[in-house]
Amino acid sequence: MKKIFQSFGNAFRPKGKKKSMTLDHQTLKEMIRGIVTTRKDEIACDSCFDKLDQFAEFVLEGKDASEAMPLIQHHLDHCKDCREEFEALMQSLKSLSK
Ligand SMILES: [Zn+2]
Repeated sequence: MKKIFQSFGNAFRPKGKKKSMTLDHQTLKEMIRGIVTTRKDEIACDSCFDKLDQFAEFVLEGKDASEAMPLIQHHLDHCKDCREEFEALMQSLKSLSK
């Protein structure tokens, strides 16, 4: 079931949008700090941003995004920054689909 969602997500992921991930020392330290300070049922903002476009696609297609990606939903409920980012993304996606 998870595999279906993954291939589904990949199919809708816009091409060329993939960020190149450079792991310098500072980034690594921040990642580790994020893991340590985050509860195990929560995800870091970075992980949320990575999945945000996929989450938005689910919502736009009328799918149950919170069911498919509960961790993202959970994060958006608690993180103002990501919520604002998500709303901005939804706005731009909506204007694109008009
Ligand atoms: Zn966040």
